[in-house]
Amino acid sequence: GNMSSISVPPPKCLQKPLTVPYRHMFGPGPSNVPSRILEAGVNPVIGHMHPEIFEIMNDIKSGIQYMFQTQNKMTLAVSGTGHSAMECAIFNAVEPGDSVLVAVNGIWGERAAEMAERIGARVNTIVAPPGGCFTIEEMEKALSKHRPVLLFVAHGESSTGVLHPLDGIGQLCHKYNCLFLVDSVASIGGAPVYMDQQEIDILYTGSQKVLNAPPGTAPISFSERACQKIFSRRTKPVSFYLDLSWLANYWGCDGKPSRVYHHTGPVTAFYSLRESLSVLVEEGLENSWERHLKVAEYFHAGLESMGLKLFVKEKRLRLPTVTTIVAPYGYDWKEITSYIMKTHNLEISGGLRPSVGLVLRVGLMGCNSSRENVDMVLAALKDALKHCHKSKV
Ligand code: PMP
Repeated sequence: GNMSSISVPPPKCLQKPLTVPYRHMFGPGPSNVPSRILEAGVNPVIGHMHPEIFEIMNDIKSGIQYMFQTQNKMTLAVSGTGHSAMECAIFNAVEPGDSVLVAVNGIWGERAAEMAERIGARVNTIVAPPGGCFTIEEMEKALSKHRPVLLFVAHGESSTGVLHPLDGIGQLCHKYNCLFLVDSVASIGGAPVYMDQQEIDILYTGSQKVLNAPPGTAPISFSERACQKIFSRRTKPVSFYLDLSWLANYWGCDGKPSRVYHHTGPVTAFYSLRESLSVLVEEGLENSWERHLKVAEYFHAGLESMGLKLFVKEKRLRLPTVTTIVAPYGYDWKEITSYIMKTHNLEISGGLRPSVGLVLRVGLMGCNSSRENVDMVLAALKDALKHCHKSKV
């Protein structure tokens, strides 16, 4: 054959214009992105090392400090989704052979345990059934038994709909010389978190849930205590991309006079993230928490009044951002979610890993958390229960 001719022709599909439908994004994420935040992302691309982008990154840092309620100077956004922040936390804070304790009450604990195992940590877990959580006594027992360097807890377990109480765990960890790592991807902005007061050492979230920014950036913050462990490691973190010393320098958190190229920051994603933080600042954290709680209570009452059952029995443990509904008896949950997508152009989802088959999940996060949207979801569910196949019982 002719070595200089191309053998892969231009794909026909790419000669057609891009089309993306509008959908009501009421699953556990991503949420809808309001036009104000979308439009921020269409600003011109500038260099990832230009002074203007450093200013935008500094603004983002202040926004994250507010959202997390922390003074930590080691505060930044990882260029990646929630999982990248999870790995950033674990890969930096844990060395091979370290003991790690993971509170598993859903998929996020399972994944954190797997990440720590992959880097050669000695991982122990405490496990609660889907819908459950842990008492301080259970945590203390495990801490004193396993003497971990790090404890992982998911604040908002989006697979089961549990809001894990955080008060007292940080103080307990520090009694045992352990760092406290909290996943707030599904909860931040929608339920109270006080990073400094609750003595959380590492806290991370994602951009695509309550913040209503597109997926692709992940706010994270490290306490002084976490930094002490991380910067006195005997070994380098396995990941160059997620190495906190590099990220700290890129985000101007290390006090060095100049920043060195590490990776090309996704500048347009930074614009959207900054705008989403502006929206949160405008509303105010407490107002946002209150709105999510009120809307969730309205939603939960509506579900119960149509005969559906909430998966999380105890009110105070219900995640206000992601609601888990006991999968309606006699129905195929997949038929319900597809019917609602097809008929109402609305995404809700089934369970995830330990909750598959047990629940339907509805996320109302950020701008999506409103009574009008609750009414829309309730109407869609009523319609689905009327039209989907119900087995005779
Ligand atoms: N943690 C929690 C609690 C989540 O809900 C999610 C997203 N569903 C993640 C972590 C992972 O985030 P991402 O999909 O952005 O990587």
